[in-house]
Amino acid sequence: MGTIAVIGAGQAGLVLSAALLRAGWRVTLYSDRTADDHLDDRGRPTACLFGDQVEYEADLGLSLWPEASRVRRIHLDLFTDDRSLAFSVDAPLRKPALAVDQRLKFSAGLREVERRGASVVIGTVGVDDLDRLAASHDLVVVTAGHKSLTGLFERDPVRSVHSEPQRSLFMVNIHGYDMAARPEHREGVFSFLPGTLEVFWIPFFDKDVGESRSIVVEATPGGRGDRFGDVTSADEGLEVLKSVVDDLFPHESEFLRPARATSPVTWIKGQIVPVVRKPVAVLPSGRHVLGLGDAVVLNDPLAGQGANNATRMARFFAEELAAHEGPFTAAWLTERFDEWWERGCYTSDFSNGLLAPLNDEQKTVMLAASRREDIGEQLWEGFNDPSSLFPWFFDAAATREFLARRNVGRLDLLRYKLGVGANLLGQKASRLFRRPLGGTATP
Ligand SMILES: Cc1cc2nc3c(=O)[nH]c(=O)nc-3n(C[C@H](O)[C@H](O)[C@H](O)COP(=O)(O)OP(=O)(O)OC[C@H]3O[C@@H](n4cnc5c(N)ncnc54)[C@H](O)[C@@H]3O)c2cc1C
Repeated sequence: MGTIAVIGAGQAGLVLSAALLRAGWRVTLYSDRTADDHLDDRGRPTACLFGDQVEYEADLGLSLWPEASRVRRIHLDLFTDDRSLAFSVDAPLRKPALAVDQRLKFSAGLREVERRGASVVIGTVGVDDLDRLAASHDLVVVTAGHKSLTGLFERDPVRSVHSEPQRSLFMVNIHGYDMAARPEHREGVFSFLPGTLEVFWIPFFDKDVGESRSIVVEATPGGRGDRFGDVTSADEGLEVLKSVVDDLFPHESEFLRPARATSPVTWIKGQIVPVVRKPVAVLPSGRHVLGLGDAVVLNDPLAGQGANNATRMARFFAEELAAHEGPFTAAWLTERFDEWWERGCYTSDFSNGLLAPLNDEQKTVMLAASRREDIGEQLWEGFNDPSSLFPWFFDAAATREFLARRNVGRLDLLRYKLGVGANLLGQKASRLFRRPLGGTATP
């Protein structure tokens, strides 16, 4: 078995290290933080893992938080521009999802792989170091995320769809919310106002408070929800979030009102330009390194795929590397990546597909899912395995065929639509009746 240098003790790096250690490799893991540094880090992304990835981490012995709540259902509310609820989809996940604070995961994961025999070297790795490491290992794999060393990996113009950010992001982790006001929040909740705002409310195991909720806000740039640009603290961001929710998703206001941030550092704001890079970088010496995870495939978190994708990639490459005899040439690594991309492309297609406006067929599937739990379950399976959504969720003819196979005909759809229409009218009427004399309508 070979020798490998893994750069970055994050999601991809820890999974790859654990899998290759199990296969008998000599692993050296280079981390810019110690296990204690990881614990003292700023808040990290929600990084909810879905079914197969949760199972794979557990199989590798990296699932160390049995007390963390598993997510077993997702409840999605779809709103119209005038704040009316068009319909909801509430369906189970086929396998539980899990969101554990990456500060805990990375800290414990680093200790765990070291305990299993990995050599851990602390320090920030630069390009010169990579050259040295490439000379002394069978392979160097860069799993340093999307903020460092990515300049090494050339952008792939064919596989990259966007050159501008598609959403403005804000994330804050909270506790102290009013669960009784919205029991749906015992599980995952998504609130969508198409074209304006998507908010994800994810059960989360926070380093400091344990059971909590991680809220990810995805606002269309320049839209009514894009109000987090000037935020400078978790508390300030949470106040802005409360006002956005009061304006656009008022049925969540009561749940959110008493909430507090889990700590001053558990928040993030920013924008991401989704990109796919070439997986192999050639160093000044002519030697090469492989990139995995966000270092080469970076998606907007709208579909919650980054950590899932990093896990899938690390798993695929661990299996390929362990089975290979002979040198890990640039051509061999690129071929393996192309093979991975045959399936991996669906993750990017899913993420980019959700960033685009929902088309009529997709709205129809969601409407059918609001009436049929089996369709909702099939839809949610896309978060676990994005390939399962193709072609039926992204191709009009395939959507019709998908619905027909599930005995959802035109008359059923008409009935569902009439139900939604009546419901929306009812909401409008009730707002009208609550309107104070001479005043404007209250929520
Ligand atoms: C708001 C938000 C919410 C998200 N929610 C989800 C979600 O619900 N589900 C999901 O799947 N994904 C989600 N993601 C994405 C997910 O967090 C990332 O895609 C995932 O962590 C990427 O894993 P990685 O291993 O590539 O990089 P990382 O997990 O970022 O790990 C990189 C590691 O390398 C270290 N490092 C960096 N540079 C160096 C260097 N030069 N030398 C040594 N070490 C170095 C870093 O300190 C870090 O520990 C979200 C992202 C955001 C922004």
